[in-house]
Amino acid sequence: MSGLVAHGGPILGQTERVRRGRARHLCEAVLMGGSGYRVLVIEDEREIASQIARRLESEGWEAREVYDGLEAVSEARDFLPDAVVLDVMLPGIDGLEVCRRIQAEREVPVLMLTARDDETDILVGLGVGADDYMTKPFSMRELVARLKALLRRVERAERRVEAESSLLSFGDIEVDRNGRRVRRGGAEVHLTPTEFDLLVCLAQNEGTVLSREALLERVWNWVDASGTRTVDSHIKALRRKLGPDVVRTVHGVGYAFERPA
Ligand code: CA
Repeated sequence: MSGLVAHGGPILGQTERVRRGRARHLCEAVLMGGSGYRVLVIEDEREIASQIARRLESEGWEAREVYDGLEAVSEARDFLPDAVVLDVMLPGIDGLEVCRRIQAEREVPVLMLTARDDETDILVGLGVGADDYMTKPFSMRELVARLKALLRRVERAERRVEAESSLLSFGDIEVDRNGRRVRRGGAEVHLTPTEFDLLVCLAQNEGTVLSREALLERVWNWVDASGTRTVDSHIKALRRKLGPDVVRTVHGVGYAFERPA
């Protein structure tokens, strides 16, 4: 972590909070122009939280820091962020539970910070509801790039659903793109935002094999070598929630959506 906190950011005191309050008003002006985002930064290591927040503010965004799981849930309700950066290890309630509670109230993209790669695999497997993961230590540049990709993806998805008719149906699976809901056999299936986008991408290309790289580009709007594992993990989650018959693996090629019989 030492690389990340090289600048030794100060611990937030009252003055810092006031300063951030002012920054918020400035950023609201930016928001009017449509270029600023609100990001809730949930991380108990205050120096890291502060570094992230300052970097986001330098992008013209508004950032709010929270250092505790329970406080994070109520802050998300109050702040209505466009995206959340969430550390998995938190005092109070942990990042997994924070993610669940925030997502249960309002769908918002979550970028989760983890300490190790294998921890990421476990979390993705659990279907926590995060849309992307970064392992510490990470570069601020990459964090911003990932957040931008995440936000672009959400905006694109919003525009897309406005442009298209809402309801798709495949056998006993119904996908409501406007409501972003999925039912199978009449029962609601709860998908994370990313799982939902992945399902729609696959379903709209029914029967066509899509490579993991193609899925990464279309769904995550993000291409890098380590990303293919992210695709695999989300496919696993989709199968667990929707049933194993929905997505076919084509070894060495990719995945294809199969209409259930
Ligand atoms: Ca932590």
